[in-house]
Amino acid sequence: MRSKEGRDMSTKKIGWIGLGNMGVPMVRNLLKAGFDVTVFNRTAAKAAPLQEAGAKLAASPAALWDVADTIITMVADDAALQQIHQGKDGLLAGAGKAATGSGGGGGTVIDMSTVSPATSRELAAKLAARGVGYLDAPVAGSVKPAELGQLVIMVGGKKEVYERAAPIFEKLGKAQFYLGEQGAGNNAKLAINTLLAFNMQGLAESVLFASEHGIHPEAMLAIIGESALANAITKMKTANILQANYQPAFTLKHLAKDLRLAQGQGLHTPGGEAINDSYQQALVQGWGEKDISAIFPFLMGEKP
Ligand code: NAP
Repeated sequence: MRSKEGRDMSTKKIGWIGLGNMGVPMVRNLLKAGFDVTVFNRTAAKAAPLQEAGAKLAASPAALWDVADTIITMVADDAALQQIHQGKDGLLAGAGKAATGSGGGGGTVIDMSTVSPATSRELAAKLAARGVGYLDAPVAGSVKPAELGQLVIMVGGKKEVYERAAPIFEKLGKAQFYLGEQGAGNNAKLAINTLLAFNMQGLAESVLFASEHGIHPEAMLAIIGESALANAITKMKTANILQANYQPAFTLKHLAKDLRLAQGQGLHTPGGEAINDSYQQALVQGWGEKDISAIFPFLMGEKP
């Protein structure tokens, strides 16, 4: 059932797992939109600011099924997602006893993390055996778009499960794309993050080349900023480079992970191999906890 505003009233109670850079602002938007949100995070202390904003705290992933029939996950990687499903008191343990059942049978899990299509297919099959629907629904856009509810959401899974989740996505993003089979959202996400890696690497290499020929980074970044090659990412990361401020909005370790996953999906083009090598080397040299723009100091030969 949908209200006049188009909200699906059957999905008002949401369970949320993962309160990192992205999870926290996304939960805030759901609270602001009037959803009743109960959160779980491995490090429970990170839930405190959200509890002040009205979220409730669950003691385990499985416990979320007692209060919600739609559970959204936003965690680091495949290993984290497996852990919250298959670990002790994981989502699979409680699956099939969704609190109200009103979200459609035995409930729905929506994963918004960036993981491999294989993990999505595996977890979807395990949940389906317990009557629970599953969507892979990763996002493009970093912390700022997450705060503004301006993410771009790429969805794979059964169409009817997507239709039920669409009103939630409306509160988190500015655009949502239903792409078909399970894992399609993951593949689209790996594709766009490959482009992100090229953007960042290209910006860094251009500025580095100019600087080796006596053109100050500030001048080169201003030239790029005025040119047809400027985009939201080059503009956003210009300040990071000029201020040598690599506090993470999107950690380099996560982009290195995404490039590894893209390789696993067959990205073996000349550029794809090179970009993966570059970010893996930056990771090995200790830049993983910094922002992706730290590919610039890495290429400069600096140490973290
Ligand atoms: P993050 O800040 O590193 O947070 C990771 C979250 O995963 C935390 O809640 C962490 O719990 C949890 N986690 C990690 N390992 C775990 C485990 N073994 N068991 C249970 N929980 C675990 O990551 P993020 O930046 O929010 O990104 C989340 C996902 O979205 C990633 O897949 C990332 O690639 C993707 N993404 C990020 C951005 C971005 O700009 N940041 C944009 C688009 C997509 P603790 O708090 O206990 O560590």
